[in-house]
Amino acid sequence: MTKWCEHCDRPVDGDRCEVCGNEIAEPVREPVPWRWRFFIVATVIYVIWRIYQLVSWLSH
Ligand SMILES: [Zn+2]
Repeated sequence: MTKWCEHCDRPVDGDRCEVCGNEIAEPVREPVPWRWRFFIVATVIYVIWRIYQLVSWLSH
């Protein structure tokens, strides 16, 4: 996985930046919050429901 040097603002292959010599720490990855996943799922279900309603309304 490519790491990122905050100092040079460039991707770094390996543990050390070739430009500034900084040791690159493992990037902290924030997991997607559950609220967001729930919101996305709810939005998808809502859109599908609306499309279903539209199709059933058009077919009548
Ligand atoms: Zn650097």
